[in-house]
Amino acid sequence: MTYDLTNRTAVVTGAASGIGAEIALVLARSGARVALLSRRADRLADLADKITAEGGQALAVAADVTGDLSGAVAAIHTAYGRVDLVVNNAGVMLANPITAGRADEWQRMIDTNITGVLNVTNAFTPDLTSTAAEGGTADLVNISSIGAHLTFPNFAVYTATKAAVTHLSANLRSEFGPLNVRVTNVEPGLTESELASHVDNAEVINELTTWFEAMGRLTAAEVADVVAYTTSRARHVNLRQIMVLPTTQI
Ligand code: NDP
Repeated sequence: MTYDLTNRTAVVTGAASGIGAEIALVLARSGARVALLSRRADRLADLADKITAEGGQALAVAADVTGDLSGAVAAIHTAYGRVDLVVNNAGVMLANPITAGRADEWQRMIDTNITGVLNVTNAFTPDLTSTAAEGGTADLVNISSIGAHLTFPNFAVYTATKAAVTHLSANLRSEFGPLNVRVTNVEPGLTESELASHVDNAEVINELTTWFEAMGRLTAAEVADVVAYTTSRARHVNLRQIMVLPTTQI
């Protein structure tokens, strides 16, 4: 399904695969210009070609959300001008028991899932606030996870980073809402993507496979649809907190 996002300019992080790629597609199909931001330039170029072939507008911008984003921001501004819809979707899930002591994984998740969200938000805050001040619609969407509310073994740091995103979204909203910048926190449940492919623990991989078999999964496009829906509401309507799960996931 498409919505009306004509004349909107979006940035989607983690657009190389999974949920981010589908968000970029549906935003473009709904009329937005979309900057595709993640590290794998080849994947972004393929997606930009696909969007362009469909008649949409997309710009591939290879960048790491944990690093310096000034070049990426400049490239987006040169191509499209001011951004009014930011989707913080890039994330990594690395799962192991805490007793494995995988400080490398903890740091990567903290850097990508928390610092990355802050970096990207910071980079585009002037765009969002100035758009809103001039009467335009401005959106900040953070992709958190149902994991923000769950407790189970092997995912302690991942779920902690997602709890941080959920709490950050609620608090950002208290600053941005009065400025007329919408903040929407989306918490998906089990969803088809490449997310689990970075887990290097065979037992945890088996556990994840069992969950998917028992509880089903959403397609990435079904989560993307929620983002396009909420960002296309009238400017004063803010769906601030959305959990979207497979019906059979408990
Ligand atoms: P994917 O692994 O398919 O997508 C993650 C994306 O993030 C990739 O495109 C990757 O691209 C990008 N990325 C990772 N690290 C960085 C970085 N340092 N800088 C820029 N981009 C980065 O998984 P999903 O689509 O599932 O994940 C999207 C979001 O959804 C994540 O935040 C995840 O936590 C969340 N989520 C997913 C669920 C699921 O069941 N799939 C459930 C709940 C939440 P590249 O490698 O090119 O940089």
